[in-house]
Amino acid sequence: MPTTHDALRRDSRSAEATEYRKLYSTARWKRLREVKLAQQPLCEWCLEQEIVEPATEVHHADGGHKGDVVKFFAGPFVSTCKPCHSSRGQMEDHGKTVVTYGVDGYPIER
Ligand SMILES: [Zn+2]
Repeated sequence: MPTTHDALRRDSRSAEATEYRKLYSTARWKRLREVKLAQQPLCEWCLEQEIVEPATEVHHADGGHKGDVVKFFAGPFVSTCKPCHSSRGQMEDHGKTVVTYGVDGYPIER
């Protein structure tokens, strides 16, 4: 549901980005991150393609948090390796649908 708040949020995008970048340095986020990486220490996106790669990043799944503090801490989260996070993670954050192909050559439904 589009609201005035959303319109304002778009206008102040960069200010907002600076604001929620700070969330990444909170103890709460660092704790959540540790827990997620402990639960899933491997890159979940690489695993879809049968690649075993240690995860070093925790990505906000479901289109990202968009500056939403509640969503930022609530997740859902995906453990990813750095290359996956910087390619696919960025694309998802920009609202693009990422189609990945499994080892059988068929697209993986997400
Ligand atoms: Zn990966």
